[in-house]
Amino acid sequence: MQIQKVIDEITHDVQSKLANFDGEVASYIPALASVRPDQFAMAVHTVEGETFYGGDCEKLFTIQSVSKVLTLTLALQRYGNELWQRVGKEPSGTAFNSLTQLEFEQGKPRNPFINAGAIVTCDALYSRLSAPTHHMLETVRWLSGNQRININQLVSRSEYQHRHRNAAMAHLMASFNNFENEVDEVLKVYFGFCAIEMNCVELAKTFSYLANKGVDVASQQRILSTKQNSQLNSLLFTSGLYDAAGDFAYRVGMPGKSGVGGAIVAIVPGQFTVAVWSPKLNSYGNSSAGLYALEQFANKLSLHLF
Ligand code: GLU
Repeated sequence: MQIQKVIDEITHDVQSKLANFDGEVASYIPALASVRPDQFAMAVHTVEGETFYGGDCEKLFTIQSVSKVLTLTLALQRYGNELWQRVGKEPSGTAFNSLTQLEFEQGKPRNPFINAGAIVTCDALYSRLSAPTHHMLETVRWLSGNQRININQLVSRSEYQHRHRNAAMAHLMASFNNFENEVDEVLKVYFGFCAIEMNCVELAKTFSYLANKGVDVASQQRILSTKQNSQLNSLLFTSGLYDAAGDFAYRVGMPGKSGVGGAIVAIVPGQFTVAVWSPKLNSYGNSSAGLYALEQFANKLSLHLF
């Protein structure tokens, strides 16, 4: 009841000033540039299985970089600690699509939440799964509780047509022997993951395992070991919000992951997953209204972890 009341207050507050938040919707591909900026949704999924929500929760959006958490989860299931030979665990401090850092660090991306890190993780998955896209969709449909979850093909294709920088990163990693498969084939898989479409309630549900010691709340099935789940949350805390992870840690105080579709997922371990969505992004690529909403939420319910 308390959670719903706070969500209602925040939704009312944010909706009354949506036009005033700084930023622009992502414009690097036409399919994202045409999304209406004045939208907002917020949802909470508790470890007891309760859902609370407010705003435009029926609206679908592409999860973009939030998918990197799922990619990492599937790769950790298959590789465990071996994965860290190909991708690091440190905050990047540079833009999520930086090429210079990758060159400097000899083709090993700083972490799995920047583009190069997620692409190399996709490459690792591609080597172990005969149908990675199918497997990811099955996983997301099961975790979200919606069998109709799908990839927005318009967004995915548009990303592929504008793939030059991501392709450059993959080729650079290949030049350092940190790539195993055909670059374009792996990129198709990566862009498909980014273009998975869902609403805010489904997003909170999908990541319930992160708040629940690695166990999916609805099915009670283990997704990650307790230890892997703690480690993943730690990495989200230090690197989940691009190169603004420090600001998020300071203002909101939870592990989280954002995407350029305007979604942010945050985790209060042992209690719930909270998802927000609003498409206007600040200069770091994080949803402006989403950040504000999460900060309010953390303040009103004293959720800051420290
Ligand atoms: N599909 C986007 C890209 O690879 C994801 C960006 C993001 O959400 O950070 O450029």
